Amino acid sequence: MATQQYIPKILVVDDEMRIREGCRDVLTQEGFEVASAESGQKGLDMIAREHFDIILLDLMMPEMSGLEVLPEVKASHPDTVVIVITGYATVEHSIEAMKSGAFDFIPKPFSPEQLKVVVSKAIEHTRALQDIAKEKSRMRGLINRLSDGVMATDDQLRVVLGNPAFLKMINHKGGAVIGHPAESFIKQPELLNMVHEALAMPQDTFRELIEEIRRDGEGDAEEMVLNAHSVPFRNRTGTNIGTITVLHDITALKKIDQMKSDFVSMVSHEIRSPMNSVLMQLKVMMDGLAGDVSEKQMEILDRASKKINSLVEMASELLDLAKIESGLITLEKEAVQFNALLEDQRQFHLDGAAAKNISISFEKAPHLPPVSANRRNMEEVVSNLITNAIKYSPEGAAIDLVVNLENDYLCIVVKDTGLGMAPDDLERIFDRFYRVKNGQTRYITGTGLGLPIVKKIVQAHHGTIQVESTPGRGSTFRVYIPHMTE
Ligand code: ADP
Repeated sequence: MATQQYIPKILVVDDEMRIREGCRDVLTQEGFEVASAESGQKGLDMIAREHFDIILLDLMMPEMSGLEVLPEVKASHPDTVVIVITGYATVEHSIEAMKSGAFDFIPKPFSPEQLKVVVSKAIEHTRALQDIAKEKSRMRGLINRLSDGVMATDDQLRVVLGNPAFLKMINHKGGAVIGHPAESFIKQPELLNMVHEALAMPQDTFRELIEEIRRDGEGDAEEMVLNAHSVPFRNRTGTNIGTITVLHDITALKKIDQMKSDFVSMVSHEIRSPMNSVLMQLKVMMDGLAGDVSEKQMEILDRASKKINSLVEMASELLDLAKIESGLITLEKEAVQFNALLEDQRQFHLDGAAAKNISISFEKAPHLPPVSANRRNMEEVVSNLITNAIKYSPEGAAIDLVVNLENDYLCIVVKDTGLGMAPDDLERIFDRFYRVKNGQTRYITGTGLGLPIVKKIVQAHHGTIQVESTPGRGSTFRVYIPHMTE
Protein backbone atom coordinates (compact mmCIF):
# COMPACT_ATOMS: atom_id res chain seq x y z
CA MET A 1 0.00 0.00 0.00
CA ALA A 2 1.50 3.33 -1.07
CA THR A 3 1.53 5.91 1.71
CA GLN A 4 0.64 9.39 0.73
CA GLN A 5 3.22 11.93 1.80
CA TYR A 6 1.84 14.43 4.22
CA ILE A 7 2.10 18.05 3.00
CA PRO A 8 2.28 20.57 5.85
CA LYS A 9 -0.27 23.40 5.65
CA ILE A 10 0.80 26.97 6.27
CA LEU A 11 -1.38 30.04 6.75
CA VAL A 12 0.02 33.55 6.24
CA VAL A 13 -1.93 36.25 8.08
CA ASP A 14 -0.71 39.70 7.03
CA ASP A 15 -2.44 42.88 5.87
CA GLU A 16 0.34 43.57 3.34
CA MET A 17 -0.37 41.85 0.06
CA ARG A 18 3.29 41.96 -0.88
CA ILE A 19 4.23 39.84 2.13
CA ARG A 20 1.32 37.40 1.64
CA GLU A 21 2.22 36.79 -1.97
CA GLY A 22 5.96 36.71 -1.40
CA CYS A 23 5.54 34.07 1.33
CA ARG A 24 3.12 32.08 -0.81
CA ASP A 25 5.57 31.97 -3.74
CA VAL A 26 8.56 30.95 -1.67
CA LEU A 27 6.74 28.37 0.44
CA THR A 28 4.74 26.81 -2.40
CA GLN A 29 8.00 26.27 -4.21
CA GLU A 30 9.27 24.52 -1.11
CA GLY A 31 6.38 22.07 -1.44
CA PHE A 32 4.02 23.40 1.23
CA GLU A 33 0.30 24.02 0.92
CA VAL A 34 -0.12 27.74 1.54
CA ALA A 35 -3.24 29.78 2.31
CA SER A 36 -3.43 33.44 3.29
CA ALA A 37 -5.67 35.90 5.10
CA GLU A 38 -5.49 39.71 5.01
CA SER A 39 -6.77 40.33 8.53
CA GLY A 40 -6.70 38.77 11.97
CA GLN A 41 -10.41 38.02 11.93
CA LYS A 42 -10.26 36.37 8.49
CA GLY A 43 -7.34 34.30 9.71
CA LEU A 44 -9.33 33.13 12.75
CA ASP A 45 -12.29 32.24 10.50
CA MET A 46 -10.03 30.05 8.40
CA ILE A 47 -8.49 28.43 11.46
CA ALA A 48 -11.96 27.61 12.72
CA ARG A 49 -12.63 25.73 9.47
CA GLU A 50 -9.40 23.82 9.06
CA HIS A 51 -6.21 22.93 10.86
CA PHE A 52 -2.91 24.54 9.90
CA ASP A 53 0.46 23.19 10.96
CA ILE A 54 2.14 26.58 10.86
CA ILE A 55 0.81 30.13 10.97
CA LEU A 56 2.91 33.12 9.93
CA LEU A 57 1.24 35.93 11.84
CA ASP A 58 1.86 39.64 11.39
CA LEU A 59 1.82 41.47 14.72
CA MET A 60 1.03 44.92 13.38
CA MET A 61 -2.35 44.77 11.64
CA PRO A 62 -5.21 47.29 11.80
CA GLU A 63 -8.41 46.25 13.63
CA MET A 64 -7.11 43.03 15.19
CA SER A 65 -3.42 42.78 15.99
CA GLY A 66 -1.44 39.58 15.86
CA LEU A 67 -1.12 39.70 19.67
CA GLU A 68 -4.90 39.43 19.90
CA VAL A 69 -5.08 36.60 17.36
CA LEU A 70 -2.32 34.53 19.00
CA PRO A 71 -4.10 33.49 22.23
CA GLU A 72 -7.16 32.43 20.29
CA VAL A 73 -5.08 30.25 17.99
CA LYS A 74 -3.29 28.70 20.97
CA ALA A 75 -6.58 28.00 22.75
CA SER A 76 -8.27 26.26 19.82
CA HIS A 77 -5.21 24.67 18.14
CA PRO A 78 -2.54 24.20 20.81
CA ASP A 79 -0.31 22.16 18.49
CA THR A 80 -0.26 24.73 15.68
CA VAL A 81 3.16 26.39 15.52
CA VAL A 82 2.97 30.19 15.27
CA ILE A 83 5.78 32.34 13.82
CA VAL A 84 5.21 36.05 14.31
CA ILE A 85 6.20 38.57 11.66
CA THR A 86 7.39 41.72 13.40
CA GLY A 87 7.78 45.22 12.10
CA TYR A 88 10.80 47.46 12.61
CA ALA A 89 12.09 47.82 16.16
CA THR A 90 9.28 45.95 17.89
CA VAL A 91 11.43 43.70 20.00
CA GLU A 92 9.11 44.06 23.02
CA HIS A 93 6.23 42.81 20.93
CA SER A 94 8.20 39.82 19.73
CA ILE A 95 9.06 38.95 23.32
CA GLU A 96 5.45 39.33 24.35
CA ALA A 97 4.38 37.10 21.47
CA MET A 98 6.91 34.43 22.45
CA LYS A 99 5.59 34.57 26.01
CA SER A 100 2.06 34.00 24.68
CA GLY A 101 3.15 30.85 22.92
CA ALA A 102 4.68 31.91 19.59
CA PHE A 103 7.43 29.52 18.52
CA ASP A 104 9.70 32.03 16.72
CA PHE A 105 9.71 35.43 15.09
CA ILE A 106 10.96 36.89 11.84
CA PRO A 107 11.56 40.64 11.50
CA LYS A 108 10.45 42.53 8.41
CA PRO A 109 11.92 42.88 5.87
CA PHE A 110 13.10 39.30 5.41
CA SER A 111 14.69 37.44 2.52
CA PRO A 112 13.30 34.19 1.06
CA GLU A 113 16.29 32.42 2.65
CA GLN A 114 15.46 33.74 6.12
CA LEU A 115 11.85 32.68 5.66
CA LYS A 116 12.85 29.17 4.61
CA VAL A 117 15.13 28.77 7.64
CA VAL A 118 12.45 29.87 10.13
CA VAL A 119 9.78 27.70 8.51
CA SER A 120 11.97 24.61 8.34
CA LYS A 121 12.77 24.96 12.05
CA ALA A 122 9.04 25.19 12.73
CA ILE A 123 8.36 22.11 10.58
CA GLU A 124 10.88 20.12 12.61
CA HIS A 125 9.11 21.29 15.74
CA THR A 126 5.65 20.24 14.45
CA ARG A 127 7.04 16.81 13.54
CA ALA A 128 8.37 16.41 17.06
CA LEU A 129 4.97 17.47 18.42
CA GLN A 130 3.22 15.00 16.15
CA ASP A 131 5.55 12.21 17.26
CA ILE A 132 4.74 12.97 20.89
CA ALA A 133 1.03 13.08 20.12
CA LYS A 134 1.26 9.74 18.27
CA GLU A 135 3.20 8.22 21.14
CA LYS A 136 0.61 9.51 23.59
CA SER A 137 -2.28 8.12 21.62
CA ARG A 138 -0.51 4.77 21.21
CA MET A 139 0.05 4.69 24.97
CA ARG A 140 -3.57 5.58 25.60
CA GLY A 141 -4.71 2.83 23.22
CA LEU A 142 -2.52 0.35 25.05
CA ILE A 143 -3.80 1.38 28.49
CA ASN A 144 -7.38 1.25 27.24
CA ARG A 145 -6.91 -2.32 26.08
CA LEU A 146 -5.34 -3.53 29.35
CA SER A 147 -7.38 -6.07 31.27
CA ASP A 148 -6.17 -4.48 34.53
CA GLY A 149 -7.96 -1.32 35.65
CA VAL A 150 -5.84 1.84 35.61
CA MET A 151 -6.74 5.25 37.00
CA ALA A 152 -4.55 8.35 37.25
CA THR A 153 -5.55 11.51 39.09
CA ASP A 154 -4.09 14.98 39.53
CA ASP A 155 -3.26 16.53 42.91
CA GLN A 156 -6.92 17.48 43.46
CA LEU A 157 -7.87 13.82 42.91
CA ARG A 158 -9.54 14.70 39.62
CA VAL A 159 -9.32 11.89 37.10
CA VAL A 160 -6.91 12.38 34.21
CA LEU A 161 -7.09 8.80 33.02
CA GLY A 162 -9.49 5.95 33.74
CA ASN A 163 -9.42 2.99 31.38
CA PRO A 164 -12.56 0.95 30.54
CA ALA A 165 -11.39 -1.98 32.71
CA PHE A 166 -11.15 0.32 35.73
CA LEU A 167 -14.63 1.72 35.20
CA LYS A 168 -16.04 -1.78 34.77
CA MET A 169 -14.32 -3.06 37.91
CA ILE A 170 -15.74 -0.28 40.08
CA ASN A 171 -19.08 -0.81 38.33
CA HIS A 172 -19.32 2.73 36.98
CA LYS A 173 -22.28 3.07 34.68
CA GLY A 174 -22.41 6.87 34.29
CA GLY A 175 -20.77 9.05 31.69
CA ALA A 176 -17.20 10.20 31.21
CA VAL A 177 -15.07 10.56 34.34
CA ILE A 178 -12.12 12.57 33.02
CA GLY A 179 -11.89 15.85 34.93
CA HIS A 180 -14.31 14.66 37.63
CA PRO A 181 -13.24 14.17 41.26
CA ALA A 182 -12.61 10.50 42.13
CA GLU A 183 -15.09 10.90 45.02
CA SER A 184 -17.90 11.62 42.63
CA PHE A 185 -18.01 8.13 41.10
CA ILE A 186 -15.94 5.68 43.19
CA LYS A 187 -18.30 3.98 45.62
CA GLN A 188 -15.78 1.78 47.45
CA PRO A 189 -14.59 3.72 50.54
CA GLU A 190 -11.45 1.56 50.92
CA LEU A 191 -10.40 2.43 47.39
CA LEU A 192 -10.95 6.15 47.96
CA ASN A 193 -9.00 5.99 51.23
CA MET A 194 -6.07 4.41 49.39
CA VAL A 195 -6.02 7.12 46.75
CA HIS A 196 -6.15 9.82 49.46
CA GLU A 197 -3.38 8.10 51.38
CA ALA A 198 -1.21 7.81 48.25
CA LEU A 199 -1.57 11.53 47.55
CA ALA A 200 -0.77 12.43 51.17
CA MET A 201 2.34 10.23 51.29
CA PRO A 202 5.28 12.29 52.63
CA GLN A 203 8.03 13.16 50.15
CA ASP A 204 10.70 11.14 51.97
CA THR A 205 8.83 7.84 51.72
CA PHE A 206 7.67 5.77 48.82
CA ARG A 207 5.38 2.87 49.48
CA GLU A 208 3.03 0.98 47.24
CA LEU A 209 -0.30 0.78 49.03
CA ILE A 210 -1.87 -2.62 48.50
CA GLU A 211 -5.35 -3.59 49.58
CA GLU A 212 -7.83 -6.31 48.80
CA ILE A 213 -11.17 -4.79 47.94
CA ARG A 214 -14.53 -6.48 47.67
CA ARG A 215 -16.85 -4.97 45.12
CA ASP A 216 -20.44 -5.84 45.91
CA GLY A 217 -22.60 -7.41 43.24
CA GLU A 218 -25.07 -4.98 41.73
CA GLY A 219 -27.53 -5.53 38.90
CA ASP A 220 -25.85 -7.74 36.30
CA ALA A 221 -22.41 -7.21 37.88
CA GLU A 222 -21.33 -10.07 40.13
CA GLU A 223 -19.40 -9.71 43.36
CA MET A 224 -15.72 -9.22 42.64
CA VAL A 225 -12.50 -9.35 44.64
CA LEU A 226 -9.95 -6.80 43.50
CA ASN A 227 -6.32 -6.38 44.34
CA ALA A 228 -5.75 -2.61 44.40
CA HIS A 229 -2.33 -0.93 44.24
CA SER A 230 -1.97 2.84 44.70
CA VAL A 231 1.13 5.02 44.48
CA PRO A 232 1.73 8.77 44.43
CA PHE A 233 2.80 10.21 41.09
CA ARG A 234 5.73 12.60 41.60
CA ASN A 235 7.42 15.30 39.58
CA ARG A 236 11.18 15.69 39.30
CA THR A 237 11.44 17.54 42.59
CA GLY A 238 9.61 14.72 44.35
CA THR A 239 6.36 16.58 44.98
CA ASN A 240 3.17 14.53 44.72
CA ILE A 241 1.34 15.77 41.65
CA GLY A 242 -1.21 13.00 41.44
CA THR A 243 -1.86 9.31 42.01
CA ILE A 244 -1.87 6.11 40.00
CA THR A 245 -4.11 3.21 40.95
CA VAL A 246 -4.14 -0.23 39.36
CA LEU A 247 -6.87 -2.83 39.95
CA HIS A 248 -6.39 -6.52 39.32
CA ASP A 249 -9.33 -8.91 39.32
CA ILE A 250 -8.53 -11.82 41.67
CA THR A 251 -12.07 -13.18 42.02
CA ALA A 252 -11.24 -16.51 40.35
CA LEU A 253 -8.08 -16.95 42.44
CA LYS A 254 -10.06 -16.25 45.60
CA LYS A 255 -12.65 -18.85 44.67
CA ILE A 256 -9.99 -21.50 44.07
CA ASP A 257 -8.30 -20.54 47.33
CA GLN A 258 -11.59 -20.85 49.16
CA MET A 259 -12.20 -24.29 47.64
CA LYS A 260 -8.73 -25.38 48.72
CA SER A 261 -9.28 -24.09 52.27
CA ASP A 262 -12.67 -25.82 52.44
CA PHE A 263 -11.10 -29.05 51.26
CA VAL A 264 -8.24 -28.81 53.74
CA SER A 265 -10.59 -28.08 56.63
CA MET A 266 -12.87 -30.91 55.66
CA VAL A 267 -9.99 -33.40 55.46
CA SER A 268 -8.31 -32.26 58.66
CA HIS A 269 -11.59 -32.26 60.50
CA GLU A 270 -12.41 -35.77 59.31
CA ILE A 271 -8.90 -37.01 60.17
CA ARG A 272 -8.85 -35.59 63.67
CA SER A 273 -11.61 -37.72 65.19
CA PRO A 274 -10.33 -41.16 64.10
CA MET A 275 -6.82 -40.18 65.15
CA ASN A 276 -8.04 -39.09 68.55
CA SER A 277 -9.76 -42.42 68.97
CA VAL A 278 -6.53 -44.25 67.96
CA LEU A 279 -4.73 -42.18 70.61
CA MET A 280 -7.30 -43.18 73.24
CA GLN A 281 -6.94 -46.84 72.36
CA LEU A 282 -3.16 -46.60 72.54
CA LYS A 283 -3.54 -45.00 75.95
CA VAL A 284 -5.78 -47.82 77.11
CA MET A 285 -3.04 -50.28 76.18
CA MET A 286 -0.27 -48.16 77.69
CA ASP A 287 -2.20 -47.85 80.95
CA GLY A 288 -2.26 -51.67 81.11
CA LEU A 289 -6.06 -51.83 80.88
CA ALA A 290 -5.87 -54.32 78.01
CA GLY A 291 -3.41 -56.65 79.65
CA ASP A 292 0.26 -56.54 80.55
CA VAL A 293 2.59 -54.57 78.31
CA SER A 294 6.29 -55.39 78.08
CA GLU A 295 8.91 -52.67 78.19
CA LYS A 296 9.67 -53.10 74.49
CA GLN A 297 5.94 -52.91 73.60
CA MET A 298 5.58 -49.80 75.75
CA GLU A 299 8.40 -48.16 73.85
CA ILE A 300 6.71 -48.93 70.51
CA LEU A 301 3.32 -47.70 71.75
CA ASP A 302 4.91 -44.51 73.06
CA ARG A 303 6.57 -43.80 69.72
CA ALA A 304 3.32 -44.52 67.88
CA SER A 305 1.31 -42.16 70.08
CA LYS A 306 3.93 -39.41 69.64
CA LYS A 307 3.62 -39.73 65.85
CA ILE A 308 -0.17 -39.70 66.04
CA ASN A 309 -0.02 -36.70 68.37
CA SER A 310 2.00 -34.70 65.87
CA LEU A 311 -0.49 -35.65 63.14
CA VAL A 312 -3.37 -34.40 65.32
CA GLU A 313 -1.40 -31.21 65.90
CA MET A 314 -0.91 -30.75 62.17
CA ALA A 315 -4.60 -31.34 61.48
CA SER A 316 -5.52 -28.74 64.13
CA GLU A 317 -3.11 -26.20 62.70
CA LEU A 318 -4.41 -26.77 59.17
CA LEU A 319 -7.92 -26.23 60.49
CA ASP A 320 -6.85 -23.01 62.23
CA LEU A 321 -5.25 -21.75 59.04
CA ALA A 322 -8.34 -22.52 56.99
CA LYS A 323 -10.53 -20.78 59.57
CA ILE A 324 -8.36 -17.67 59.59
CA GLU A 325 -8.27 -17.59 55.81
CA SER A 326 -12.01 -17.66 55.58
CA GLY A 327 -12.10 -14.70 57.99
CA LEU A 328 -13.98 -16.58 60.71
CA ILE A 329 -11.60 -16.09 63.60
CA THR A 330 -10.87 -12.39 63.64
CA LEU A 331 -14.45 -11.23 63.66
CA GLU A 332 -14.72 -10.71 67.40
CA LYS A 333 -12.43 -7.99 68.63
CA GLU A 334 -12.10 -6.56 72.11
CA ALA A 335 -9.87 -4.11 73.96
CA VAL A 336 -6.76 -6.20 74.69
CA GLN A 337 -4.25 -5.15 77.36
CA PHE A 338 -0.95 -6.42 75.95
CA ASN A 339 1.03 -5.95 79.19
CA ALA A 340 -1.23 -8.52 80.84
CA LEU A 341 -1.35 -10.79 77.78
CA LEU A 342 2.45 -10.95 77.51
CA GLU A 343 2.90 -11.53 81.23
CA ASP A 344 0.36 -14.41 81.10
CA GLN A 345 2.18 -15.94 78.14
CA ARG A 346 5.52 -15.62 79.93
CA GLN A 347 4.13 -17.45 82.97
CA PHE A 348 2.56 -20.10 80.75
CA HIS A 349 5.87 -20.91 79.00
CA LEU A 350 8.16 -20.66 82.05
CA ASP A 351 8.09 -24.41 82.74
CA GLY A 352 8.86 -25.36 79.15
CA ALA A 353 11.72 -22.85 79.12
CA ALA A 354 13.06 -23.97 82.51
CA ALA A 355 13.35 -27.54 81.18
CA LYS A 356 16.07 -26.20 78.85
CA ASN A 357 17.39 -23.74 81.41
CA ILE A 358 16.15 -20.85 79.26
CA SER A 359 15.08 -17.55 80.86
CA ILE A 360 12.15 -15.43 79.69
CA SER A 361 12.18 -11.75 80.64
CA PHE A 362 9.40 -9.23 80.28
CA GLU A 363 9.07 -5.69 81.58
CA LYS A 364 5.66 -4.07 81.37
CA ALA A 365 5.48 -1.00 79.13
CA PRO A 366 4.27 2.11 80.98
CA HIS A 367 1.00 3.76 79.83
CA LEU A 368 0.16 1.16 77.24
CA PRO A 369 -3.38 1.74 75.97
CA PRO A 370 -5.58 -1.28 75.25
CA VAL A 371 -5.63 -2.27 71.58
CA SER A 372 -8.63 -3.59 69.72
CA ALA A 373 -7.81 -7.14 68.61
CA ASN A 374 -8.98 -10.72 68.83
CA ARG A 375 -7.61 -11.92 72.17
CA ARG A 376 -7.39 -15.61 71.32
CA ASN A 377 -5.60 -14.81 68.05
CA MET A 378 -3.10 -12.56 69.78
CA GLU A 379 -2.40 -15.21 72.43
CA GLU A 380 -1.76 -17.66 69.61
CA VAL A 381 0.68 -15.27 67.90
CA VAL A 382 2.71 -14.62 71.06
CA SER A 383 2.55 -18.25 72.16
CA ASN A 384 3.76 -19.48 68.77
CA LEU A 385 6.70 -17.07 68.77
CA ILE A 386 7.72 -17.98 72.33
CA THR A 387 7.37 -21.72 71.62
CA ASN A 388 9.63 -21.34 68.58
CA ALA A 389 12.14 -19.27 70.56
CA ILE A 390 12.35 -22.08 73.12
CA LYS A 391 12.35 -24.86 70.52
CA TYR A 392 15.05 -23.31 68.34
CA SER A 393 17.40 -22.24 71.17
CA PRO A 394 20.07 -24.29 72.90
CA GLU A 395 20.24 -24.85 76.68
CA GLY A 396 20.86 -21.71 78.69
CA ALA A 397 19.58 -19.26 76.07
CA ALA A 398 17.65 -16.07 76.95
CA ILE A 399 14.32 -14.85 75.60
CA ASP A 400 13.27 -11.19 75.90
CA LEU A 401 9.70 -10.02 75.43
CA VAL A 402 9.10 -6.33 74.75
CA VAL A 403 5.97 -4.36 73.94
CA ASN A 404 5.74 -0.68 73.05
CA LEU A 405 3.97 1.86 70.90
CA GLU A 406 5.64 2.99 67.66
CA ASN A 407 3.63 5.76 66.02
CA ASP A 408 0.24 4.26 65.21
CA TYR A 409 1.38 0.71 65.82
CA LEU A 410 1.68 -1.55 68.81
CA CYS A 411 4.96 -3.42 68.48
CA ILE A 412 5.51 -6.81 70.13
CA VAL A 413 9.08 -8.12 70.13
CA VAL A 414 10.13 -11.72 70.82
CA LYS A 415 13.91 -11.94 70.87
CA ASP A 416 16.00 -15.04 71.46
CA THR A 417 19.69 -15.92 71.63
CA GLY A 418 19.08 -19.22 69.84
CA LEU A 419 20.09 -20.95 66.61
CA GLY A 420 19.20 -18.08 64.30
CA MET A 421 18.55 -18.54 60.59
CA ALA A 422 20.33 -17.91 57.29
CA PRO A 423 18.97 -15.16 54.98
CA ASP A 424 17.65 -17.73 52.45
CA ASP A 425 15.57 -19.41 55.15
CA LEU A 426 14.24 -16.10 56.46
CA GLU A 427 12.51 -15.50 53.16
CA ARG A 428 10.61 -18.77 53.37
CA ILE A 429 9.73 -19.43 57.01
CA PHE A 430 6.28 -17.88 56.56
CA ASP A 431 5.48 -20.36 53.75
CA ARG A 432 3.31 -23.31 54.67
CA PHE A 433 5.22 -26.44 55.70
CA TYR A 434 8.61 -24.75 55.34
CA ARG A 435 11.07 -25.87 57.98
CA VAL A 436 14.76 -25.06 58.19
CA LYS A 437 16.72 -28.25 57.63
CA ASN A 438 20.18 -28.54 59.12
CA GLY A 439 22.08 -30.58 61.64
CA GLN A 440 20.80 -28.51 64.55
CA THR A 441 17.08 -28.54 63.66
CA ARG A 442 16.99 -32.18 62.53
CA TYR A 443 15.62 -33.59 65.76
CA ILE A 444 13.24 -30.76 66.56
CA THR A 445 9.70 -31.73 65.62
CA GLY A 446 7.17 -29.36 64.06
CA THR A 447 4.74 -28.91 61.22
CA GLY A 448 5.98 -25.74 59.50
CA LEU A 449 2.52 -24.25 59.99
CA GLY A 450 3.08 -22.10 63.09
CA LEU A 451 4.54 -19.02 61.39
CA PRO A 452 2.06 -19.07 58.46
CA ILE A 453 -0.73 -19.00 61.06
CA VAL A 454 0.98 -16.15 62.92
CA LYS A 455 1.35 -14.18 59.69
CA LYS A 456 -2.26 -14.73 58.63
CA ILE A 457 -3.53 -13.54 62.02
CA VAL A 458 -1.33 -10.45 61.92
CA GLN A 459 -2.47 -9.63 58.38
CA ALA A 460 -6.10 -10.11 59.33
CA HIS A 461 -5.47 -7.38 61.95
CA HIS A 462 -3.98 -5.16 59.19
CA GLY A 463 -0.55 -5.54 60.78
CA THR A 464 2.85 -6.79 59.65
CA ILE A 465 5.50 -9.17 60.96
CA GLN A 466 9.24 -8.77 60.52
CA VAL A 467 12.16 -10.94 61.43
CA GLU A 468 15.88 -10.37 61.84
CA SER A 469 18.22 -13.23 62.47
CA THR A 470 21.89 -14.16 62.56
CA PRO A 471 22.89 -17.84 62.43
CA GLY A 472 24.34 -18.88 65.76
CA ARG A 473 23.39 -15.58 67.45
CA GLY A 474 19.60 -15.57 67.61
CA SER A 475 16.42 -14.18 66.09
CA THR A 476 14.11 -11.23 66.70
CA PHE A 477 10.49 -11.32 65.57
CA ARG A 478 8.57 -8.02 65.55
CA VAL A 479 4.80 -7.91 65.20
CA TYR A 480 3.12 -4.57 64.39
CA ILE A 481 -0.60 -4.18 65.01
CA PRO A 482 -2.27 -0.85 64.18
CA HIS A 483 -3.66 0.42 67.46
CA MET A 484 -6.50 2.30 65.83
CA THR A 485 -7.98 -0.95 64.50
CA GLU A 486 -11.74 -1.07 64.93
P1 ADP B 1 7.56 -25.35 63.10
O1 ADP B 1 8.18 -24.72 64.30
O2 ADP B 1 6.37 -26.18 63.41
O3 ADP B 1 8.56 -26.06 62.25
P2 ADP B 1 7.04 -22.67 62.16
O4 ADP B 1 6.22 -22.25 61.00
O5 ADP B 1 6.67 -22.14 63.49
O6 ADP B 1 6.99 -24.23 62.13
O7 ADP B 1 8.54 -22.27 61.86
C1 ADP B 1 9.10 -22.56 60.59
C2 ADP B 1 10.60 -22.74 60.71
O8 ADP B 1 11.22 -21.51 61.03
C3 ADP B 1 11.01 -23.65 61.81
O9 ADP B 1 11.02 -25.01 61.37
C4 ADP B 1 12.39 -23.16 62.18
O10 ADP B 1 13.34 -23.78 61.35
C5 ADP B 1 12.35 -21.70 61.87
N1 ADP B 1 12.19 -20.89 63.09
C6 ADP B 1 11.04 -20.37 63.56
N2 ADP B 1 11.27 -19.64 64.67
C7 ADP B 1 12.60 -19.68 64.90
C8 ADP B 1 13.47 -19.10 65.89
N3 ADP B 1 13.01 -18.33 66.90
N4 ADP B 1 14.80 -19.34 65.80
C9 ADP B 1 15.28 -20.09 64.77
N5 ADP B 1 14.52 -20.68 63.83
C10 ADP B 1 13.19 -20.47 63.88
